[in-house]
Amino acid sequence: MGEHETSAATHYRALFALGHRSAVLCSPAVSLVLRSTRLVAVVVVALVLFGGLFAWRLFGEPPPEAGPAGTFLPGDQGRVGYVVTREGTTLSPELEGTGDLIAAGLIFPVSAEASGAFEVLDNCNRTGWVAVEDVDAGVVPTAKGEDMAGSVFVIDPGHGAPDLGAVGPGGLTEAKANIDVSSRVIELLSDSRDIDWVSGSVTRGTTYHAAAVAISTRSADGPNGGDYELGLTFRAELGNAVDATALVSIHHNTQPTHNTEGPGTSAFVSVDNEESPRLGGLLVDEVRRSLSGFEADWVGGNSSLVARVDENGEDYYSILAGSDIPAAIIEGAYISNPSEEELIATDPFRQAYAEGVYRALVRFVLTDDYPIPQPEPELFDPDAPPRSMDDCVTPR
Ligand SMILES: [Zn+2]
Repeated sequence: MGEHETSAATHYRALFALGHRSAVLCSPAVSLVLRSTRLVAVVVVALVLFGGLFAWRLFGEPPPEAGPAGTFLPGDQGRVGYVVTREGTTLSPELEGTGDLIAAGLIFPVSAEASGAFEVLDNCNRTGWVAVEDVDAGVVPTAKGEDMAGSVFVIDPGHGAPDLGAVGPGGLTEAKANIDVSSRVIELLSDSRDIDWVSGSVTRGTTYHAAAVAISTRSADGPNGGDYELGLTFRAELGNAVDATALVSIHHNTQPTHNTEGPGTSAFVSVDNEESPRLGGLLVDEVRRSLSGFEADWVGGNSSLVARVDENGEDYYSILAGSDIPAAIIEGAYISNPSEEELIATDPFRQAYAEGVYRALVRFVLTDDYPIPQPEPELFDPDAPPRSMDDCVTPR
């Protein structure tokens, strides 16, 4: 573990420095208002013009998950990257066709807009159309910034019924545990925060700004508490559609190889995205640090950062292969291990996992830290084929 880690003192010093720079960016309201009344006028005009979009940036309120359709401003301020379905939304296979009524609270990436409708990819990887007036349009910045306030994050809870993911000996499913961790990460990203880089604790504060946009591929507000099936292509396309700063897929592991002293946290990363191994390494570094605070009979695998490829040398996992943006799959702890499953069922453990992901994202955006060397590609040729999406349904 030790050889993979950069000197803690060095990167914490760097983070403190960046944190302070970020703090100045974080409170423009105070410093600008004191400086000049002309700026006050500009800010007021901007507020009137750009409404909620600016208000959330100035005051660090959570970003609008989705505003009513048509309230976004085209051009430099934002564009529609995704939609959230409402009661009465219909999904049509053709632009002019009639659609089926689908459930409220589904999030779909937008690929085009035409004749009062958005072209979307549904949870089963099928293209379809929804009427603009039937959905909440999710606005994303046209140009991302290089700080937290200008960043866009997609958090992806792995699996979703009937795909339960790994199931613990006590019956806890990955699908359920993952969505709760994901919701906690979204919550952390949706407000400004302080980080205690010694203890790792994340609290409400002013050092790190709320993200411009933080969304999850399936949310607990969705049908069946968000427990429904999602295609891997769909997950990647949501990241692409919003041009995410990072896409993080949250998982728990199974099939360990041996007992370990601490958490066997690991990540799968892409072979064709330069930033993916850096993102994966930061996730492993920070999540493992978070989970190390708990007592368990830990188990682990052979490597903490893995790049699995198919026989063509391409990313084995479609979520990584399909992402044009930095993406990584994080495996927090082993749900198959009774001792770890017991912990995964608890709120403090899930919160610690989420705080680890949050700290990793802050370091990803604000530093050049590269805590674990890029792994050599590893051929992966499992006996079982990838899960078929043939029986996938869109919740009604
Ligand atoms: Zn999984």
